[in-house]
Amino acid sequence: MGKIRLMPEQLANKIAAGEVVERPASVIKELVENSLDANSTWLKIELEEAGLSSIKVTDNGDGMEEDDCEQAFFRHATSKIMSENDLFHVRTLGFRGEALASIAAVSKLTIMSSTGQFAGTELYLEGGRIKEKRKSDARKGTTIIIQDLFYNTPARLKYMKTIHTELGHITDLLNRIALSNPNVRIECSHNGRQLFQTNGRGQLVEVAAKIYGISTAQKMIPIHHETLDFSIRGWIAKPEITRASRNYISTFINGRYIKNYGLNRAIIEGYHTLLPIGRYPLAILHIEMDPILVDVNVHPAKWEVRFSKEKDLYEAVEYAVREAFRRETLIPNIQKKEKKKDMSKQTSLDFSAPRYTPSHPISDQPTNDKEVEFLIKEKKLEEERLFESQPAIRSNQDKIDLNLPDVSADHDDKQLSGEIKTRVPKLFPIGQLHGTYILAQNDQGLYIIDQHAAQERVKYEFYKEKIGEVEHEVQELIVPLTFDLSSQESMFVSNHLSLFEEVGLFIEPFGSNSFMVRSHPTWFPKGEEETVIQDIIEQVLETESTNIHKLREDTAILMSCKRSIKANHHLTHSDMERLLDDLSQTTDPFTCPHGRPIIIHYSTYELEKLFKRVM
Ligand code: ADP
Ligand code: MG
Repeated sequence: MGKIRLMPEQLANKIAAGEVVERPASVIKELVENSLDANSTWLKIELEEAGLSSIKVTDNGDGMEEDDCEQAFFRHATSKIMSENDLFHVRTLGFRGEALASIAAVSKLTIMSSTGQFAGTELYLEGGRIKEKRKSDARKGTTIIIQDLFYNTPARLKYMKTIHTELGHITDLLNRIALSNPNVRIECSHNGRQLFQTNGRGQLVEVAAKIYGISTAQKMIPIHHETLDFSIRGWIAKPEITRASRNYISTFINGRYIKNYGLNRAIIEGYHTLLPIGRYPLAILHIEMDPILVDVNVHPAKWEVRFSKEKDLYEAVEYAVREAFRRETLIPNIQKKEKKKDMSKQTSLDFSAPRYTPSHPISDQPTNDKEVEFLIKEKKLEEERLFESQPAIRSNQDKIDLNLPDVSADHDDKQLSGEIKTRVPKLFPIGQLHGTYILAQNDQGLYIIDQHAAQERVKYEFYKEKIGEVEHEVQELIVPLTFDLSSQESMFVSNHLSLFEEVGLFIEPFGSNSFMVRSHPTWFPKGEEETVIQDIIEQVLETESTNIHKLREDTAILMSCKRSIKANHHLTHSDMERLLDDLSQTTDPFTCPHGRPIIIHYSTYELEKLFKRVM
């Protein structure tokens, strides 16, 4: 007895019909989802001409009996959903019961299927009508071949973009299918060339390696968090690996790929300040929850969903990401212990060698007295040296000469954002705090400088000037750089080559989705030419900006941010001196290109007030 029945009519109407067969990628999606629903552990997807001439999907799933095989091509024929109530408990992927019927209607379709017990069934359909029927072999599973898609709907065929665009959609889809099914061995090929192959061993990170490359996968860390309602697992890239678009965040609910703005935001929030502005993480998150908590039927074709415990879910995801980093100790958790420290322990400021590295958070490190003593001595020596060079260190008129933002302990960022164009006076470094801030002084008091923000400002002004130059000096490359883009990207790039020329980048098309660069402006940072070129391209692709001024600005910000020293990085005394000197040369030393403050200043007067030396 077959298992397919007809769905009640009102229910069918309740389900947004939508166009199932929009393009080759949507056909592949339906076929693959059917294979997965049929408990396949292996599937092979073979494509010709981006699926327009042929799509072949072979699986080792349950297969179908003879009458099911024929029934499957009726509209609303499904074995997966029989009542309205079921809609809200959908665990399987397909549930509209119209995919096969729709696909068959616009193609020449061959199906071979067997449950493995008897000889299988082979059908050949044209435009949805069964033309041939015969027995096939008894291999358990199903093979479906779609030929000449849209052969009888020329309007639809005309709507198809280039092979490359279609292939771009297909690769996105296949990547997501692979990432959502690490337990399934998946082989994909296009025009006889392998796209990728996963091993089905169930290791998500192995799938990520196949898709994003091994070196990227090696820089991903596992994430795992359970709450009463949700189980969150996956892999997230360390902040050193970022992307210019949100496209590399993949979220799956109960194995189904979904797009949800709030979820993406929660992941980004979880990275906290670890991500540079305008950069996005690479993340793969699998979330399991009671299907009752998720409405997957909002828009079946667009992968959008609604959650009933939305806020809880976002909180849990953000927490999960943060926790993963904390475990990796990328964020040394220093705040709590710091508060308890008495003044003598202030000497754990960093004057020479780094006192902690990311793998040894400061809170885990016992401070031993000898060390403190040594540090005090060292500090004294250092101060003496500095004081010699600037005897006027404790002048009382400091407050009056100052034309600088004056920020007290309970400072307000707004105070800094005012248009203060005075350059910073010469600053003398005292030491480094937490490998992140430079403490410096001059006769006007104490300065705390965010080293990353400072360098960002310096580099930003450098790059902005360089990118803005009309005449470009050009450095010829001995070996031209070539790079590949997705088909969508290469379309965009090909159409905007002149835009790149305006920032000094001469990109030549080189093969179908490849490009070549033979020379670049001389100011490109040495040894980083390739990444800089990729950054610029990525920037244009991300913003889809065709405005040269915006491109210059954005590129300068991106390059300065990526190439600046991050927090938790030890600087030598001369490093600090150089950075402070460079900073004082900038036109706007007080805020980084993203508008955050660079310098916090306590005037001598203010310090004296704090210590009640003056009233
Ligand atoms: P739906 O997936 O929404 O049920 P489809 O038109 O996609 O509707 O498929 C109709 C039915 O055909 C499915 O319910 C399933 O029983 C059967 N079917 C389709 N593809 C396969 C497959 N690869 N293996 C086994 N059964 C399949
Ligand atoms: Mg289906």
